[in-house]
Amino acid sequence: MNWISDWALPKIQTLFGAKRDVPDNLWHKCPACEQMIFHRDLERGLYVCPHCAYHMRAGATQRLQWTLDEGFQRIELPKAPADPLRFRDSRRYVDRLREAQAKIGQDDAVLVAHGAIEGERAVVAAFEFNFMAGSMGSGVGEALVTAAKLAVLQDAPLIVFTASGGARMQEGAISLMQMPRTVIASRMVKEAGLPFIVVLTDPTTGGVTASFAMLGDIQIAEPGALIGFAGARVIEQTVREKLPEGFQRAEYLLEHGILDMVVPRPEMRATLARLIGLLRNHERAPLAEAEPVPGLAALPAPDAARDEATQSS
Ligand SMILES: [Zn+2]
Repeated sequence: MNWISDWALPKIQTLFGAKRDVPDNLWHKCPACEQMIFHRDLERGLYVCPHCAYHMRAGATQRLQWTLDEGFQRIELPKAPADPLRFRDSRRYVDRLREAQAKIGQDDAVLVAHGAIEGERAVVAAFEFNFMAGSMGSGVGEALVTAAKLAVLQDAPLIVFTASGGARMQEGAISLMQMPRTVIASRMVKEAGLPFIVVLTDPTTGGVTASFAMLGDIQIAEPGALIGFAGARVIEQTVREKLPEGFQRAEYLLEHGILDMVVPRPEMRATLARLIGLLRNHERAPLAEAEPVPGLAALPAPDAARDEATQSS
């Protein structure tokens, strides 16, 4: 405004130790080693602690940005019925949903985009754990089916980054129906001869683990990610035994054959590009002669999909 507000007032405030306009989120504390990390270093390091390599949770938008080349396009997802059961617990489900939508700035817990990964064409779907714990209701089911159809239409592999607490209880049986639905969606991709790659991130549990998330042609996880169906405490109480160290963590699952790879986040993009390159070059010839695939209008019934696959093979 003038020299008083621009120069003199800040000087006086500094002299007298008045409140300083320093944002309080410049430094982050690592939840694992408790060291402080400057926010720029954190962003540059893809939210992996530079001191102990702890992988912090990441959002769906970050996943897309970190994975896809510049210029990727997010696609609009079909609207799912908002509250099919008119469910209410301590609050109405529609209110919870609206609150999450306002807070996160997306319609439901999954974002879908298409583009390229180091030049390799790909469709990527990413879960947002902060959206109602990444729970899978009809909106999420719809997103994954759309992603699968898009992959088939574009003749591109489908990569899904999961982060979910499981089925969305507010949608009851409808949320459980998303399990077979997403399994069928993943099968559409496979039957078109396209790679389906799942990247399990912290945490992936419940109905998501129990459906499409374990059906990838290649199962990747981030270091330290919690992956399981029921929680460790529930299992411990049921089997009445102490569970081994690192139970349900990515490294343990890799050792026991549930996963193919555990890939640190900074290497994820290059790893995905390499995998797609390997898988696609090998398959490219028969793919060109594949049957035309159903459009975005309807998802074929499982039997129809199977018949189609038999015809084309
Ligand atoms: Zn740390």
